[in-house]
Amino acid sequence: CGVFGIFGHPEAANLTYLGLYALQHRGQEGCGIVASDGLHLKAHLGMGLVADVFRRDDIFERLPGSSAIGHVRYSTAGGNDMKNVQPIVVDYSRGSIAVAHNGNLVNAQEVRNALEKSGSIFSTTSDTETIIHLLARSQSDSLVERLCEALMQVKGAYSLAILTETRMIAVRDPNGFRPLSLGTLDGAFVVSSESCAFDLIEAEYIREVEPGEVIVIDKNGMQSYFPFPKETRNTPCIFEYIYFSRPDSRIFNRMVYPVRKEFGRQLARQYPVDADLVMAVPDSGMAAALGYAEEAGIPFELGLIRNHYVGRTFIEPQQSIRHFGVKLKLNPIREVIEGKRVIVVDDSIVRGTTSRKIVKMIRNAGAKEVHVRISSPPTSYPCFYGIDTPSRKELISASHTIEEIARYITADSLCYLNLDGLHAALAQFGDHKIDFCEACFSGNYPVKFPRLRESNQLG
Ligand code: 5GP
Ligand code: SF4
Ligand code: MG
Repeated sequence: CGVFGIFGHPEAANLTYLGLYALQHRGQEGCGIVASDGLHLKAHLGMGLVADVFRRDDIFERLPGSSAIGHVRYSTAGGNDMKNVQPIVVDYSRGSIAVAHNGNLVNAQEVRNALEKSGSIFSTTSDTETIIHLLARSQSDSLVERLCEALMQVKGAYSLAILTETRMIAVRDPNGFRPLSLGTLDGAFVVSSESCAFDLIEAEYIREVEPGEVIVIDKNGMQSYFPFPKETRNTPCIFEYIYFSRPDSRIFNRMVYPVRKEFGRQLARQYPVDADLVMAVPDSGMAAALGYAEEAGIPFELGLIRNHYVGRTFIEPQQSIRHFGVKLKLNPIREVIEGKRVIVVDDSIVRGTTSRKIVKMIRNAGAKEVHVRISSPPTSYPCFYGIDTPSRKELISASHTIEEIARYITADSLCYLNLDGLHAALAQFGDHKIDFCEACFSGNYPVKFPRLRESNQLG
């Protein structure tokens, strides 16, 4: 998912719309904006793309005020129906509050069970709602205390944009799994999952919201708090660099593009092969393919062309649509590929179904050899922190060796950048000391989760 917020700007809802537009790649199932005019929160939410949900101008007339938050959703927790679209807005004893959440709580079910036992009635199936219930039940006087009290009871990944009538709050969990940045525009404060949204609205990047930081913004300015115990490791999600974030974003204090390109260079150093051209699976393999081609000294070609009116196929939760999606999305250029030994670079293999179709597509276009290079290690474990990887039994590398996967996808050779390679690439940027989460590759989960879910989903 993606979150965005702005405080202190007369065009708050309009700018949030633009911000969400720039974050659309982080979720395409649904979206919403909540605005405050200082007295009331007004919301508009819907299923579908930002441009479709906010198609009519009169929607913005009904979102007045100088502060707003927004969310783009894809379902990692909770179903994909209208009632789980965010921001979640509630009225409770002390006023109104809206919450937009990127990430996934690992103990939401346990917290929810306990709350339901003592009488709480939940209106969504989303993990985010547990935060709101905990906050509403807190007896503390200040909003910040109530929020911190709630957050102390949940575990997992959360980058939050929160709006009340008079305040906006930005929070990043103590591990800092998901990115969240702070910016400024005409004296207003802006927060966004990725800085590419700042570029679009011409906001200035200030810094990232730190792991474990709670930033409260009101008419008097900005206050920063670090309410969590200090011992938590900072474990930002390495997969944001590999795949999820846009290459033109700055996350975790680094531009994504050069990092992603370096993964490709490193891959070329680790796994060279004689070939006539290097091509990418667009768009996700593009930066790494360029890095690979540069390092290998082999020409880069556009061998596959992408139809840009098709979204990220994996975000469609239906298997039937995902299968159809590959041909809809990609078409090879025979004149580039025919008779050639090609290296195809992609960022990851999840189920292997797309990669198999792509290799076949390239062969049908006349390739003599197809060498697949993946700019991350085999994805062998599911993510519990907000990336929509399927369950372990659907992950092809959880149950197959690299040789078996190569045979399945019908590649002449298949190589993955290994964890050392990832670290070597990050070391070029001075990031080798950061303890990234890489659990989907290593199985080493930095935040533990209740046994029950572990055995259900990992088993
Ligand atoms: P596969 O060959 O596993 O079917 O598809 C691989 C493609 O899925 C890659 O191009 C990659 O960009 C994309 N992908 C990346 N991350 C994810 C994810 O978290 N979930 C899914 N399902 N696909 C992803
Ligand atoms: Fe990111 Fe993988 Fe960790 Fe999930 S498990 S937070 S995708 S590195
Ligand atoms: Mg891809």
